[in-house]
Amino acid sequence: MQKYDYVLIGSGPAGLGAAFRLKELKPACTILMLEKGSASSGGLRNDCKMNFSWPIGFPEDNWERSEGEAFLEKVIEHLHPPIKETRNMEIYQNRARRLDTELLSIRQSHLGTDGGLELIKRLVADLGALGVDVETRREAGDVDEEARVLETSAGPVQFGALLVAPGRQGFNYLQRLMENLDIPYVDHIVDIGIRVETREENYPIVKDYYDPKFHFPDRVRTFCTNSGAAHVVREKYLTQDGRPFPSVNGHAWSENREANGLVNFAMLKTVRLTEPLASGQRYAEMLGLQAALLGGGQPLMQRVGDFRLGKRSTAAGFNHDLYDFEPTLKACTPGDISLAMPARILRAIWKSMKILDTIIPGVLHPGTIMYYPEIKLYANKPRFRDGSFRVRDRIWAAGDGAGTSRGITAAWASGIRAAEGMVKFSEG
Ligand SMILES: Cc1cc2nc3c(=O)[nH]c(=O)nc-3n(C[C@H](O)[C@H](O)[C@H](O)COP(=O)(O)OP(=O)(O)OC[C@H]3O[C@@H](n4cnc5c(N)ncnc54)[C@H](O)[C@@H]3O)c2cc1C
Repeated sequence: MQKYDYVLIGSGPAGLGAAFRLKELKPACTILMLEKGSASSGGLRNDCKMNFSWPIGFPEDNWERSEGEAFLEKVIEHLHPPIKETRNMEIYQNRARRLDTELLSIRQSHLGTDGGLELIKRLVADLGALGVDVETRREAGDVDEEARVLETSAGPVQFGALLVAPGRQGFNYLQRLMENLDIPYVDHIVDIGIRVETREENYPIVKDYYDPKFHFPDRVRTFCTNSGAAHVVREKYLTQDGRPFPSVNGHAWSENREANGLVNFAMLKTVRLTEPLASGQRYAEMLGLQAALLGGGQPLMQRVGDFRLGKRSTAAGFNHDLYDFEPTLKACTPGDISLAMPARILRAIWKSMKILDTIIPGVLHPGTIMYYPEIKLYANKPRFRDGSFRVRDRIWAAGDGAGTSRGITAAWASGIRAAEGMVKFSEG
């Protein structure tokens, strides 16, 4: 049987951060990194916008500010990000403050989907040169904790210590693993919202600040802004019993691609559930299915002009107006998002959009499109045994799947932190 000191599940930023840190701390150790896809599947590969400022991406129940900031410096050492300039921040921040809204000042870089792929290639080659075995198209399965054996699609492998970092895509995998290993977890938080698409002239702040992070009252925030060659995309998720439901997302190509004059960004509200329902996943599934029902299996889209007048958008009236633009997401149904969205979430988001339109006049142009749903499942947060994200004697769980991060840089930082715990354990 194959044997390694460390086995890492997932080649996303959490797995990569852990692999580099393990090699720094123990250059002679043996490492196997398993990836079920052909390459890392998360944000490194899609758009690759990286935020290097606290608290973006760091869940504050797992991180202190000083820790997060110290780890971010270590992340920068590997990623060498070209930081984007920001302009006129004070003007925007003053306007926001008057409306009880905060505009965070963030160090950002944006590589684009094409730039992200180049970065992944470089990082995997660097790991290879350090002697790490990276195996793509090899899927991790069950774990026998006693025997320290991980089943995989290409045979079993024995580990000294195991890091499980399967990302949000690995939600069901991690949940099953935790149930089999009797690891307590919660999944009670979810972000629900819309994606807004408009002409760049209606949201010109993007020329001063690539991905503006506004935090509004009622736990609403802007998230993942894309401009230049920017597109809205559809993602497909499955409920736990296998029924498909759509969610939207956005991305942009690097500056080498021709710009299309459009901007898109998410407006998300964080929902924290208590009792009797405490599963964000189950709640999101029901909302996703409801949207799919109304959209004939597709997400819904509505022009702001129709929404304001309380009318649904229709296929016949959706395009061909002097002030409109074609939606970049074609596989989407014109309709009425207020039929699908819970009132509390819709009210909070619409109020925040009005605030945003006061800070950046124009974003509520009648031609602006609102796509629904955009769903961000947080994670199955395990109960960690210590600060290194250890869940069992020889098992660690980190990254977006385990709720220790919500973004590329914090996921990388989580991997570093887990690696430090894994080394400490194997020396103890
Ligand atoms: C479309 C999209 C765009 C995004 N854009 C951005 C962005 O621009 N900026 C940003 O900061 N964040 C972005 N994010 C979020 C970002 O991707 C995550 O925060 C980050 O990638 C989390 O890192 P991770 O290592 O925890 O998981 P991931 O990056 O998701 O990596 C986990 C890896 O594990 C693999 N895996 C899962 N299960 C198994 C298994 N059983 N066996 C083997 N391998 C497995 C998956 O294929 C995946 O490659 C985006 C996410 C998505 C989905």
